[in-house]
Amino acid sequence: MTDGSAIAGVEALVLRAPGDGTDELDSSGETVVVRITDEAGRQGIGEADAVAAAVRELVVMGDVHAWSRGLAGVLVGRDPFAIRALHAELYASTLYHGRRGLGVHALSAVDVALHDLVGKQLGRPASDLLGGPAHTAGSPYATIYQGAPGARTLGQMIDATADLFARALALGFRAVKMEVIWGELVTDRQLVDCIREGRKLIGDDVTLLVDFGYRWSDWREALWVLARLEDANVYLAEAALRHDDLAGHRRLAGRVETRVGGAEMAATVHECREWLREGGVDVLQPDAGRCGGLTELRRIAEVAELEGALVIPHGWKTGITAAASRHFQAATPNAPFFELLHPELFDSPLRRDLVAPEPELRPDGTLALPTAPGLGVELVEDAVARYGETG
Ligand code: MG
Repeated sequence: MTDGSAIAGVEALVLRAPGDGTDELDSSGETVVVRITDEAGRQGIGEADAVAAAVRELVVMGDVHAWSRGLAGVLVGRDPFAIRALHAELYASTLYHGRRGLGVHALSAVDVALHDLVGKQLGRPASDLLGGPAHTAGSPYATIYQGAPGARTLGQMIDATADLFARALALGFRAVKMEVIWGELVTDRQLVDCIREGRKLIGDDVTLLVDFGYRWSDWREALWVLARLEDANVYLAEAALRHDDLAGHRRLAGRVETRVGGAEMAATVHECREWLREGGVDVLQPDAGRCGGLTELRRIAEVAELEGALVIPHGWKTGITAAASRHFQAATPNAPFFELLHPELFDSPLRRDLVAPEPELRPDGTLALPTAPGLGVELVEDAVARYGETG
């Protein structure tokens, strides 16, 4: 290559917002950004939703042996346009320590960064690299997360939910997900009433998803609740059962009208295929920053399509993940929505500050199809300096 498009450098930046989130289910308190620079100085960015320091090491480390290599060493000098081939090579080069977990999470950040870089090199949005528009607009859903209950009462959690619903609808959202990760604060009977109340709060015309946060070990208890919610028109029941209880998911999905979903922590198409074949779920929810990047998310969507299932990607990180999910959904026929952690609905410094611009939600709850090159967002250098780890 003589046009300056070859990969010249690969960095992994660990960024951390102040605060201790151990009681909260907030994975946006830190991130690791992989930044790939070509010989002409153009840059692509991606992030992993996994332990930032560990991912950084997997990116920058020296080679241990042929099946256990640092990602950066494989990439430098290569043609970034060969995204799929590089994905396969990186997977093979990390087989010894990767394959499903952290190694694939690190590969995810690289793969998203390659889509960003190549899009910029070509002057095309990343969604075009994924096949081009499959919808006329982007459809995000807003996650309504009230934070861990702590000392709050159930009434206070409902009030917090109502407040967030109102704010989401005012922003324009037409699809929302109610988090009910309230543990022993609610009985199953109360939970039914709470979700019915949630439906009343948003009205009949807004799509309602529910995240149960791995509430049950017994699929029949989940069935008891979901069967009583059919008049609440829940679009998706997420994480009702433990993540790896695929047999339970299959039994549950076979018994309820509501779509059953999960796999937010899954890595690779192989794991997602098990969710379809053994788990029988209707909806897969892998994360671009964890499952293997946009390349893998597309493979997952293609396998899901063959099994009659949908993909609605998880996203709870910075604007980089929000952008990656947006491009994926825009280009994927069986992806009706993507999760959008909106900076005005959850107070996360990295989500708010790390990249710009923030795409504008239109009054009908949709986003315009992306047109800017690559992911369409850039790192804000002030934020990198503020939240970056030195040394
Ligand atoms: Mg979730």
